Amino acid sequence: MKIDAFKKRFVNYIYLNRNLAKYTWFGVGGKAEILYIPDREESLEKFLKNKPIDCKLFTIGAGSNLLIRDNGINGITLITSKLNKIEINKDGIITASCGAIDAEVARFARDHNRSGLEFLIGIPGTIGGGIKMNSGAFGSEFKDILIDVKAINHNGEYKIFTNKELKMDYRKIGLKNEWVFLSARFRTSDGSKDHIRNKMKEIIHTRKSAQPTGIKTGGSTFKNPSGKKAWQLIDQAGCRGLRNGDAMISEKHCNFIINIKDSNAQQIEELGKIVKQKVFENSGVNLNWEIERVGNE
Ligand SMILES: Cc1cc2nc3c(=O)[nH]c(=O)nc-3n(C[C@H](O)[C@H](O)[C@H](O)COP(=O)(O)OP(=O)(O)OC[C@H]3O[C@@H](n4cnc5c(N)ncnc54)[C@H](O)[C@@H]3O)c2cc1C
Repeated sequence: MKIDAFKKRFVNYIYLNRNLAKYTWFGVGGKAEILYIPDREESLEKFLKNKPIDCKLFTIGAGSNLLIRDNGINGITLITSKLNKIEINKDGIITASCGAIDAEVARFARDHNRSGLEFLIGIPGTIGGGIKMNSGAFGSEFKDILIDVKAINHNGEYKIFTNKELKMDYRKIGLKNEWVFLSARFRTSDGSKDHIRNKMKEIIHTRKSAQPTGIKTGGSTFKNPSGKKAWQLIDQAGCRGLRNGDAMISEKHCNFIINIKDSNAQQIEELGKIVKQKVFENSGVNLNWEIERVGNE
């Protein structure tokens, strides 16, 4: 099918040229040529099976690790927010759909007296994004709790990947971008609600004291180089509080870029590049982006 015929056929299910800024934590970004927000896996499968083969697809979860460029994204942008079911079976295995918010999954586990997912309370993404990034905090990461994940490729074909097959490593996995994660199964252990609640409170408290909260950001901008802390290298390079327009290196946590008010994506990306350069000049370390930059340059 040609792209125009495809748009016409799905016109009641898609948005054309929709601004993506409100779907990301930075609050910046251009337009999606085609925006699709399915509410059922079966609808997504049908949509993908009809998609023109040469039409690209990009998936957004909560947009908490993304910098979408001002010139937007060609092809289809898929948003998973409505695929958000969470269930538990008699063995304590929790199954969460890709668009479920991590903190919701953490609270669900707590309410069922299941331990092991407490760290999810502090990560502001979705289950799908968390798997893609192998996100983690406070000594735990998705790799430690994931059993397997059900995925669909860009042609609408399903596959189950085991934890091992995903080759999860520090903030990355070894799988091509052609897979959209649909739902994942997590192992948990017996726990007491009070104990779990206290652990989660502690995580929230620690985060509030170390990181800026209630602001537009993408979280940690750069990955920690082996044996080093990115924030320390950035601080030592004199970048704390550095500004480019309304994009600024947080005074509270040097590895966070914040959009003070009306920054655009270009200013944020430029600021990141300046910081990378300054850190390299000061320490010889080449920082790698943790935030994913996507869209037309
Ligand atoms: C304030 C703040 C604090 C943060 N703290 C942490 C932290 O402590 N630890 C940490 O690891 N990260 C942290 N992050 C980063 C971010 O929250 C995580 O990387 C999170 O897991 C991303 O999930 P998301 O749903 O927002 O993904 P998005 O940002 O929407 O997308 C990230 C990547 O995942 C892909 N993706 C999303 N959903 C799917 C899917 N269903 N199938 C396939 N691919 C998918 C996207 O295409 C993209 O490549 C923080 C971010 C913020 C803003």
